[in-house]
Amino acid sequence: MISVEEAQEAILSRIPTMGRERLHIGDALGRVLAEDVISLRPIPPWANSAMDGYAIRSRDIAHSSEESPCTLRIIDEAPAGFESAKTIGPGEAIRIMTGAPIPKGADAVVMVELTVRDNDDEVRVLKPVPEGEAVRRSGEDVGVGEKVFSLGNRLGSASIAMLAGVGRPYVYVVQGPRVAILSTGDELVELGEEPGVGQIFNSNSYALAAQVREAGGDPLLLGIARDNTEDLESLLKDGLVADMVLTSGGVSVGDFDLLKSTLGDLGNEMHFWKVRMKPGKPMAFGTLQGCPVFGLPGNPVSTMVSFELFVRPALMKMQGVAGLYRPQIAARLLHPLHKSPERRHYVRAVASFKDGEWTVNAVESQGSNIIHSMVRANSLIVFPEFKTDLEAESQVQVLILEGESALGAQPLPGEGPGSLVA
Ligand code: AMP
Ligand code: MG
Repeated sequence: MISVEEAQEAILSRIPTMGRERLHIGDALGRVLAEDVISLRPIPPWANSAMDGYAIRSRDIAHSSEESPCTLRIIDEAPAGFESAKTIGPGEAIRIMTGAPIPKGADAVVMVELTVRDNDDEVRVLKPVPEGEAVRRSGEDVGVGEKVFSLGNRLGSASIAMLAGVGRPYVYVVQGPRVAILSTGDELVELGEEPGVGQIFNSNSYALAAQVREAGGDPLLLGIARDNTEDLESLLKDGLVADMVLTSGGVSVGDFDLLKSTLGDLGNEMHFWKVRMKPGKPMAFGTLQGCPVFGLPGNPVSTMVSFELFVRPALMKMQGVAGLYRPQIAARLLHPLHKSPERRHYVRAVASFKDGEWTVNAVESQGSNIIHSMVRANSLIVFPEFKTDLEAESQVQVLILEGESALGAQPLPGEGPGSLVA
């Protein structure tokens, strides 16, 4: 049996990278950039007002107060979308709205709440404001010629906002890998059918399709292959139109022979079967007519954890993403854990960051059939193969499955949370 790292290595060394395509940014969420993006213009394009109020010269109102307000003469109005042609001179102000360009001569905006307007021509200012107050500088968000994204960045919703902000309708992205998914098992029924005695719903196909989507891929659901050569062979062949094939189930001891022999008949080269881990020991990886094939274990948790550890990094590599793996943190374990040696355990857990520290706790049920444990967990404790005990209060390594952006928003190492080690 090989280690998780050996399996990952064996997989990644056989994963090709996808080509690129041009997409409208409205269709590019979750995709990976195949180009650097340089902004050709500054954002904001010109200094503009952060408030509704009055554009003024700060020195004119330096001595204003509620008791003795400064009175300024209003010489123009500047709504958003228009630039005033006038220049503000001593004792003058221009009524201005949020987003409107700062008029010539003004060096600050006093918000409307700090003013009293008695008539059309004059405004009284109740408080001084410093130079630059409520002025958004040109280029304070993005400068001209600034690189806003690099090749290999994945586009989240904020990235889409940025692309629109710099005026880019189209970007080059890596093609999303098509991933064929087939479930195996005589006991499975499709959603919408009524399970008879001994039958269960096919949940793995949908779990995998969702995981593929989250990883930027495009799932192709092939349905259920019954536990016989003909069914398996026919669906595996269908899967070869895709960039990758995932099967689930049929890889435990007796069953494996069927999948292996069927794949073998089609010309598959098997690279490994069985990894020294729990959940998900039985897990096969081969290449069939140039297409990577993952034989994932059937138990729903094993399927999803194996996807996390092996398929997701492969999809990341296919798309040219720089970081292939989930972030790993060090956290304080709240309750002790025990296991037998030899296999590494990935313990479903809830990690949280509070008062400058990461803590982690295993979820209650760790059975590889307990889907609820995956629903509850946001992370996996990495329980090393050679260890049998992880003591309470000890520091453990944790893979963060969700909330990577939340993790990114935490203070940097040295500033607060447990050290980021990956
Ligand atoms: P197997 O490796 O085929 O023996 O499957 C192991 C366990 O996972 C069995 O309890 C199966 O019923 C279950 N299982 C296999 N495939 C699926 C699936 N697509 N959806 C839900 N459970 C499954
Ligand atoms: Mg089965």
